[in-house]
Amino acid sequence: MATYCPEDLASRELSCPICFEDYDIQDVKRTPKLLLCLHTFCYDCAKKLWRNDGSIECSLCRMLHEEVRVDDLLDNYVIIQHLRSLIKLFCDSAGESLRSGILSWLGGLISTCGT
Ligand SMILES: [Zn+2]
Ligand SMILES: [Zn+2]
Repeated sequence: MATYCPEDLASRELSCPICFEDYDIQDVKRTPKLLLCLHTFCYDCAKKLWRNDGSIECSLCRMLHEEVRVDDLLDNYVIIQHLRSLIKLFCDSAGESLRSGILSWLGGLISTCGT
């Protein structure tokens, strides 16, 4: 039997490095946006980094991205897929071995699944 698990269980390591909010595939402002330097921020923070001259300076590596629009940035599908599959694995499976496999994969960040 599948148990419902809130998404935040699966997203501890999938949070924005600026605001520390979890990415949320349901919420536009929390959608992970990928910069060309391969760093990812939530939509909201990417918007804040955006300057009027149309550039974004990555606050992690200081790379300057010119002539970009936040709305044109790619969604980070790796993270989105990761989130989705993680949630699905966690919630669809009652298998103990699978669960502990996921746990070690996440470095023990997630302790239990709704118990
Ligand atoms: Zn953010
Ligand atoms: Zn960067």
